[in-house]
Amino acid sequence: MAMNLAQASVSLDAGTLFVIAICVTLLLGVVLVIAWMQERIPALAWWGAAYLIGGFSGVLWQLSDRFASPVPANVANILLFVAVGMIWGAARLFHGRRLRWSAQLLGAAVWLIACFFPAFTHATASRIVMSSLIVAGYTFLIAAELWHERRKSLIRRWPASFVPMLHGAIFLFPVALAALAPAGDGIRGGLAGWVAVFAIEILLYVIGAAFLVLILAKDRAVRLYKLAATTDPLTGVLNRRGFFEAGGAIMQANRHSMAPVSVLAFDLDHFKSINDRFGHDSGDAALQLFATVARKSMRADDVIGRLGGEEFVAILSGTLADAAVVAERVRSAFAAADVAVNGRPITATVSIGVASGSPLAAIETLIGRADAALYRAKANGRNRIEMADEVLGGAADQPSRVRLVAMREVPAAAIADARQRAGR
Ligand code: GH3
Ligand code: MG
Ligand code: MG
Repeated sequence: MAMNLAQASVSLDAGTLFVIAICVTLLLGVVLVIAWMQERIPALAWWGAAYLIGGFSGVLWQLSDRFASPVPANVANILLFVAVGMIWGAARLFHGRRLRWSAQLLGAAVWLIACFFPAFTHATASRIVMSSLIVAGYTFLIAAELWHERRKSLIRRWPASFVPMLHGAIFLFPVALAALAPAGDGIRGGLAGWVAVFAIEILLYVIGAAFLVLILAKDRAVRLYKLAATTDPLTGVLNRRGFFEAGGAIMQANRHSMAPVSVLAFDLDHFKSINDRFGHDSGDAALQLFATVARKSMRADDVIGRLGGEEFVAILSGTLADAAVVAERVRSAFAAADVAVNGRPITATVSIGVASGSPLAAIETLIGRADAALYRAKANGRNRIEMADEVLGGAADQPSRVRLVAMREVPAAAIADARQRAGR
């Protein structure tokens, strides 16, 4: 069956297939470079450059083969290994890892050194085995790189590393053949029927890998744009849009269990005066400090957003009492944290309003009630927490209907306890 495949492939002109493979590689190199110019993902530039160099090495190969070009075939080989190493480098860059120059050029260097030994230059079998080992080695490194990308789901990781893995395995085939037919040029005869199969495999790999990296790059670009569209650039917390999206998701998730949700409204105290006294940059630093402190004082799945200016809001799953504990943690941590201005610490504080309610309530209503509590915190002296007295029930389609519900989720004792802790 395998031999039939080899024989059948002889009818395909291997030379033509290689020319097609070279043209496709060069074309995809250009496509990848154009994609890099659009997306500015450095890995795409490396991947594209590698394809251009690889395609160029194929051109040199053809020239030396057909027209007895003066360019030694070794130059073509060395360029090919540089290209394969570059693709590995591109895969590393793609995952935010550093380039490893020495390892990346090792294949080309090994070949260059081997060229100084006439015994190697004239032994076709050793040349085939060594070039196969170098290509397979780098291809397995690429597969490992794509496999270790933990942010990807398994479904995407599988094809991403399976393609290079298969390619690497196919390149080990000549090595196996050399082991089976060690006598001189026996390997060359054994490979003759497989040249066209190799050409097709290379063609498919080159196309498959380029599409894979383009899809991964697009996927990443979409993720980055989405992140940028929902994140506040100054503080790194969610912006208004991101907050309502993520907050809505928390409310939705709690609707199954009818677990209560709580909203915290934050407003930095006398913030205008910080700007006026120390400058806008110090104000910005205080905003960043607050975002950091708030994030550290809350759970990873609590949602924090900056609604604008020095006003932040958070939503979390939990009762009014739970939320009061969190609010107090943020308030005290922020009061204790300093923003250094020209080496001089300035202290900023925050006032917090807390409201709690059923997950069926409208998020805007909950925020409104937390805001009302926040105004009381301001009026009562700032750097303090006030809680909405009522726990909000109601349905999402009746956002204006505010009513007192039986305090089943929030026992009075818990509220009293939280108030005591919050210093009221
Ligand atoms: P209060 O204690 O009553 O909240 O007083 P306040 O000064 O904090 O409140 P006010 O609303 O009067 O001032 C808010 C200030 O926040 C005014 C505005 O210049 C400043 N501000 C808004 N956005 C930014 C920003 O992105 N960076 C900086 N540095 N300041 C900002
Ligand atoms: Mg304000
Ligand atoms: Mg303020």
